[in-house]
Amino acid sequence: MRLCSLAVVDFRNLSSVHIKPGNRFNLLYGLNGQGKTNLLEAIYLLGSPRSFRTTRLPELVRHGERQAHILGTVESGGVHNSLKLKLESAGRKVEVDGKAIHKASELHGRLNAVIFSPDDTGMVRMGPESRRRYLDRAVYMGDIGYLHCWHSYQRILKQRNHLLKNSDRAGLDVWTEKLAETGAEVIERRLEFIAVLDKKLQMYYATIAGGSETSRISYQPDGVQSADKEHIREELLELFKRHQRSDERYGTTTAGPHRDDLNFTMDERPLKAFGSQGQQKSFVLALKMAEMDNLQDIFCEAPLLLLDDMSSELDAQRNNNLMEFLTTREIQVFITTTERSSALLATAPHCAVFHVEDGNLTFEGS
Ligand code: ATP
Ligand code: MG
Repeated sequence: MRLCSLAVVDFRNLSSVHIKPGNRFNLLYGLNGQGKTNLLEAIYLLGSPRSFRTTRLPELVRHGERQAHILGTVESGGVHNSLKLKLESAGRKVEVDGKAIHKASELHGRLNAVIFSPDDTGMVRMGPESRRRYLDRAVYMGDIGYLHCWHSYQRILKQRNHLLKNSDRAGLDVWTEKLAETGAEVIERRLEFIAVLDKKLQMYYATIAGGSETSRISYQPDGVQSADKEHIREELLELFKRHQRSDERYGTTTAGPHRDDLNFTMDERPLKAFGSQGQQKSFVLALKMAEMDNLQDIFCEAPLLLLDDMSSELDAQRNNNLMEFLTTREIQVFITTTERSSALLATAPHCAVFHVEDGNLTFEGS
């Protein structure tokens, strides 16, 4: 999968950007606050229902303007498609090859991208919510049905919480049954995804870090031991029953997949407590590479890889390991740094270089 051309108009500080990215490596360099991450965000948004930075649409439109546009031509399996995104405070409109689309599912898989940014490492140290957000986004990328069942779960949860809040016991059992049923589907899909990711993670961690540490990711849903939907449903029902008293007291559903967490471990110890900063970064990067690999398996084509602020992320050795690995794969990569890194250019053949300054991009050759 490749982004062949990109136009960005009035998106954050990018007033008018028109570029033809290289097929392999693209280096975007520039000082702080010039628009590098904004450009990656624009690329990411073109293929995804949500930004990786914000859920507030107005933030994305350039100050003083009413609309932002992002247009891209994507080559996938030898076929070119044009994607057009219009953003305004009222919402977003998407067109594929000039035809308006109305469902997220119609955009799914058109432009797959995996982003690794400095903020991502935070999910190791932060609360479970950030890990759940990562999990849900990552599962959805490769599993078109996930969004639908996740939304159903949220809707039913809201309804059940409403009954609990108003001490309205009539109908509670019915909504609890429904919640267990959709919850089981959410959990089953998450478990499948994490099992695949866990298998790939170790290999990528060794590739990047070169160390012998054992990196693992696991998902242990609260109150659930089984892996198939029917048994999970029964266990969830049990869980909801066990918590019914406290649910009624607090007026909300206190246990279930909306409260679950991911476990990251290194040599069987919690990464959060025992991993160094560099190990945590390498771990999350390896996770992203595993995700990329999984998407490649599913779509038979590698997604775009967006590496934000690489200069600050890893030491020289790990950077080198990563670049060496990436040169062996047919992936289109966008890398942002603050300096025109000669080390990076030496390892990345055919790298297209763009200078980013005050929201403008200048092509400097490849
Ligand atoms: P760094 O190296 O520090 O990460 P960067 O080049 O990645 O910098 P970006 O995050 O891409 O910087 O851009 C930040 C700039 O974009 C800031 O100057 C910010 O004020 C500006 N910006 C963000 N949103 C908008 C907006 N809606 N309208 C205009 N400018 C905006
Ligand atoms: Mg940035």
